Amino acid sequence: MTKNIAVIGAGPGGYVAAIRGAQLGANIYLIEEREIGGTCLNRGCIPTKTYFRNAEIMRDLRRAEEFGITVENYRLDGKALQERKRQVVNQLVKGIEQLISSYKNIEFIPGKAQIKNEKTIIVNLKDGNTREITVDNIVIATGSKPTMTETKGVDLEGVITSDDLLEMEEIPETLIVIGGGVIGLEFASIYQELGSKVILLASRILKNVDMELTRRLPMFFKKQGMETYVDIRAKEIVKEGDKLKVIARYKNKDEEIEVIGDKVLIASGRGPVVEGLNLNDIGVEYDHNGIKVDENFETTVKGIYAIGDVNDLGIQLAHVASAQGVYVMEKIMGLTPDINLDIYPNCVFTLPEVAYVGSTEGELKEKGIDYKVSKFLFAANGKALSLGEGEGFIKVFASKRDNRVLGVTILGPHANDLIHEGALAIANGMDVDSITRTIHAHPTLSEAFMEAVHGLDDKAIHMA
Ligand code: FAD
Repeated sequence: MTKNIAVIGAGPGGYVAAIRGAQLGANIYLIEEREIGGTCLNRGCIPTKTYFRNAEIMRDLRRAEEFGITVENYRLDGKALQERKRQVVNQLVKGIEQLISSYKNIEFIPGKAQIKNEKTIIVNLKDGNTREITVDNIVIATGSKPTMTETKGVDLEGVITSDDLLEMEEIPETLIVIGGGVIGLEFASIYQELGSKVILLASRILKNVDMELTRRLPMFFKKQGMETYVDIRAKEIVKEGDKLKVIARYKNKDEEIEVIGDKVLIASGRGPVVEGLNLNDIGVEYDHNGIKVDENFETTVKGIYAIGDVNDLGIQLAHVASAQGVYVMEKIMGLTPDINLDIYPNCVFTLPEVAYVGSTEGELKEKGIDYKVSKFLFAANGKALSLGEGEGFIKVFASKRDNRVLGVTILGPHANDLIHEGALAIANGMDVDSITRTIHAHPTLSEAFMEAVHGLDDKAIHMA
């Protein structure tokens, strides 16, 4: 008998789950209260990456003379930047809408879903009516939203979230960024290149990453002119004339600083969207980290699943939400999903880019794994130098016992594309030889990865 499945939320978790379920023959109800594409397409990955491109162009214009090009009289048009962002977002949203409508067994329902019980959903439709749907399974994919810190003064005018910043045409003269996670770092780096004076206040630089990376990235930021404070916590935000003052305190020393800016971006984390779903009444357990799930993403109520940012796994990446969506649908439809959910690339769109996958050195030490490590510098890579981006490194870790690749960290040009060779190797348990026997094209950035891997066996050619 055909299974009826409701998917609540059409972000990269929900819409991908809906399509996979439809491919497998289920009857899908995809319910969305805002826009198709969720945070990722509308307020996250895609808008920030259009800004990232603007930032890259601004950086290149600023240093055009290094390339023998004289550029005069360029300026950034905040309105045009917004317009371009909207065009890219609209094109993608329309594409997903068309894709979904091409599946006759997906019904898209615009409205807010509430779960009545494990077999019934009530949708408050956008047209003001309500509709009750009876299903066999429910997949909750309602995502996350920005959380404000407990810092005093976050409700002042000019204190903004990433959602607000992405709608602003104006480039703030001085932007204070509170938060050293992916979102904080990306906005700090992008706005610094777009022309703001950025002041970054970070209690740490990323989580569970290579220690060298956490030291080197702030050094790059400082070189670009960003005022960067690490190991520091914002205590209070106060009005100072028409500006905002942030008082921050170092974590490990008895010292405070005060910084003044036009806008303060709070990028201190995102929390699950669970309001209005009626989870308490139906027995789906959750806390501030998200909905509790087991290894199959099933919640504490049988037949109800939670994928993506809303579950308590804390990963908050679009590609992971999508992979969880595919996994859950295959599971519901009786297949054995063949996806390695433990290995996923983490990408940070700063300038320079940061990407990592698999284990860090810290984790390997903690687990007592006997490992070897090799590092290749982009300064020795021809393509990187021709791009004018010869700074940064690729670091590869492998097991001494069986020679398998265990972790890769990249800081440098196109790190976010380069990381996938590492992801492929680690997710498939490939050993160092499987990479070293593969010829890599010249001149490419991928050669730097190959050289780093060769270095594990002291075979790198361009490494002293
Ligand atoms: P979401 O994308 O949040 O989608 C959830 C959807 O559910 C929303 O559309 C919402 O309207 C809907 N919904 C909620 N409640 C209900 C209800 N009751 N009824 C009906 N609909 C409901 N990740 C990356 O991998 N790469 C990046 O470069 C990246 N950049 C980011 C930049 C920013 C500024 C931000 C904020 C996030 C970024 N992310 C990035 C994270 C990424 O956006 C999320 O991990 C991803 O969107 C999670 O997908 P999801 O489907 O779980 O939830």
